[in-house]
Amino acid sequence: MATAERDYYEVLGVARGASDDEIKRAFRRLARELHPDVSTEPDAADRFKQVAQAYEVLSDRQRRDTYDRFGHAGLRRGGFAPTEFDLGDIGDLFTAFFGEGLFGRTGRSGARARGADVGAAVEITLAEAFHGIEVQVPLQVAVTCERCHGSGAEPGTAPVTCPTCAGAGRVQQVSQSVFGQFVRASTCPHCQGAGTIVESPCERCAGEGRLVEERMLDVEIPAGIHDGQRIRVQGQGHSGPPGSQAGDAFVQVRVLADERLARDGDDLVAVVGLTMVDAAIGTTVTVPAADGEIELEIPPGVQPGDVRVVRGKGMPNVSGGRRGDLRVHLDVRVPRRLDPEQRRLLLEVGEQIGEEAYRDDGEGGFFERLRSAFR
Ligand SMILES: [Zn+2]
Ligand SMILES: [Zn+2]
Repeated sequence: MATAERDYYEVLGVARGASDDEIKRAFRRLARELHPDVSTEPDAADRFKQVAQAYEVLSDRQRRDTYDRFGHAGLRRGGFAPTEFDLGDIGDLFTAFFGEGLFGRTGRSGARARGADVGAAVEITLAEAFHGIEVQVPLQVAVTCERCHGSGAEPGTAPVTCPTCAGAGRVQQVSQSVFGQFVRASTCPHCQGAGTIVESPCERCAGEGRLVEERMLDVEIPAGIHDGQRIRVQGQGHSGPPGSQAGDAFVQVRVLADERLARDGDDLVAVVGLTMVDAAIGTTVTVPAADGEIELEIPPGVQPGDVRVVRGKGMPNVSGGRRGDLRVHLDVRVPRRLDPEQRRLLLEVGEQIGEEAYRDDGEGGFFERLRSAFR
């Protein structure tokens, strides 16, 4: 491969002392010119590869340094092997460098083409997720230009058939490469696949046929939505080529963490503190719930780690199924400090309460706790 030995600076057309930015700009310019789908030069594919290889070396500080001091031989000694691009890879490579849509690839063959999807995100609280909510989400979407109805041609004029491809949108192209001669049909470089060209571009969109518009999208978020779920709003994405469908908008919903309630599927989980005395004699506690608070009766004799389940007080099911439960974990607290008098009283009470009082009768006891732990 004699051609591989060409000086990399010469290939990119930059001085040896060129800055990183100059190298990048030179590469971008050449890559655009030489892209096999655009260039009419027969050796464009080959030159594109050389340019890509030169950029691969000169854009990397260490490789560039090695190359500056020891040349191609130095790079080989250092174990560097340039990426070998297949002709088919070039389109992918180009997309990787420049992003999609630089050259309209849909064109004639893109009868089924539609506009690209657009994504947005919205944050809501747990209470909003509980009730469901309508939100407005700002979106930036490409819309069809109304002045030219997407044709890109100034009203009163019309796009004309492309003389290069006679309206086919594609041309036969012979490219010379290290693998031999390739004949391939590629997108017409003149009309970029459209089959027509605009001689008097529309004043409003400069011939693009599309404009970027800021739009407020009304999104109905259903009750019971889960964190991370996406809502698809059909036809609210970017406009596609004229006559095609717009893409969809995908709105990702983030349900913010609630400091009082955790969520487990459709169930809600709360923790309430209970003194040792209340746990023994029973009480009523106020428990946070998604739609306010509820009063929960605690029977006498609940144990540390007990979970009370309030049926149907969790989140609504987003698909309309059974509503979840509210699971209340009881955090039974034991005094950490007692003065001598309290200590004496507690000892006395402790002696009064015999072993019998601690016995597990089953009802609300160990098995119930075991069961509730698996609910
Ligand atoms: Zn227009
Ligand atoms: Zn053409």
